[in-house]
Amino acid sequence: MSINLQSHAFAGNPIRSNTPKSADPFSPTSAFESLKIRLLDNTHHHQQPSSSFPEFKVLPFRKGKPLACSTPAETAPSWHLGWINLPDCQGFLENSGTQLREEALVYLGSRSEDDVVYWAIDVSAENSLVPELGSKQFCFVELRTLMVATDWSDERAMGELAIAGHARSLLEWHNLSRFCGHCGEKAVPTEAGRRKQCSNVVCNKRIYPRVDPVVIMLVIDRENDCALLSRQSRFVPRMWSCLAGFIEPGESLEEAVRRETWEETGIEVGEVIYHSSQPWPVGPSSIPCQLMVGFFAYAKSFEITVDKAELEDAQWHSREDVKKALTFAEYKKAQRTAAARIEQMCKGVEKGQNLAADFNVESGELTPMFIPGPFAIAHHLISSWVYQDAPNGVEVRSGQSSSSMSNL
Ligand SMILES: [Zn+2]
Repeated sequence: MSINLQSHAFAGNPIRSNTPKSADPFSPTSAFESLKIRLLDNTHHHQQPSSSFPEFKVLPFRKGKPLACSTPAETAPSWHLGWINLPDCQGFLENSGTQLREEALVYLGSRSEDDVVYWAIDVSAENSLVPELGSKQFCFVELRTLMVATDWSDERAMGELAIAGHARSLLEWHNLSRFCGHCGEKAVPTEAGRRKQCSNVVCNKRIYPRVDPVVIMLVIDRENDCALLSRQSRFVPRMWSCLAGFIEPGESLEEAVRRETWEETGIEVGEVIYHSSQPWPVGPSSIPCQLMVGFFAYAKSFEITVDKAELEDAQWHSREDVKKALTFAEYKKAQRTAAARIEQMCKGVEKGQNLAADFNVESGELTPMFIPGPFAIAHHLISSWVYQDAPNGVEVRSGQSSSSMSNL
């Protein structure tokens, strides 16, 4: 395998591996208490108190897009998250006529080794913030563009992508859960924005961040050594991927795999084997965080009947053909192109973002299709199958790992 992946894109968040206990100054509770004091201090003195410990860094978001900046590296540009410090955040908001309130900040995590607590804030309402931050070579970039532009062998970049994904999920969830679903009263943030609670004291319901599980499966025909790939009409041309679908209430993961495969392609699935899972915060904003749960699904039938309402097409592809598609796809080039575009955007040269185009991968005329890049779990399901040693679909266990599966 050419891709040595430590974890899936959006997993492996380096600032939330363990949440400190409440007495710890880095915990959500303690950090929120000290946030209140600092905001009050800064309002009165307009400067950061010298005894600030730990340091607070804030990541602004606008309409689901995190603030980012670009640093030209020797070989290729790379993006960074646009962290700003608390007094600056307060100053920016004051300049646009808004007072920064502690409830607006959402705790993301901490790194005690750096003495930093990280927060996110949604500044979608503050239009004047955009030119002000823009003058500092920062710009708000679509998370999907950052995802495509992330060098997956770069641990720092993968970590920042995971932080931005977590932050976007939380902020979008706050936007979607303004009111209590039980009594209809206003829902207010608690636990430094990690939960919400109904403001009606009689109701007092606790509201938790939403995660929507999705099964994603590579359907494999062991006998003919081929896999079922499909196209949705919203895909960029030539892109083929795995089948996927939301889990329904009262359904096991395995049942969801079998039902979705049957509904979309008419294929009957027998054995279902778990592969790995990936948080997916780049879906529609009405679904702030999907959890993609990946499986190999072994087919019991061969005849395909495509549900045209769900899919544009579905076809069996031989292992050789899929291997060719993986080999000739220029994923690295696509990543660098996206990183260069972010650099142009931060310089103010490029403004528009064509989201669909971000997914396009060149592979010359050598193959008629391509598979999504390494930022997607579909890529790893497909490449795990392609690079398995045994043709009958049973992975050969040896000292050397033969697939990306062992790294996840
Ligand atoms: Zn309520």
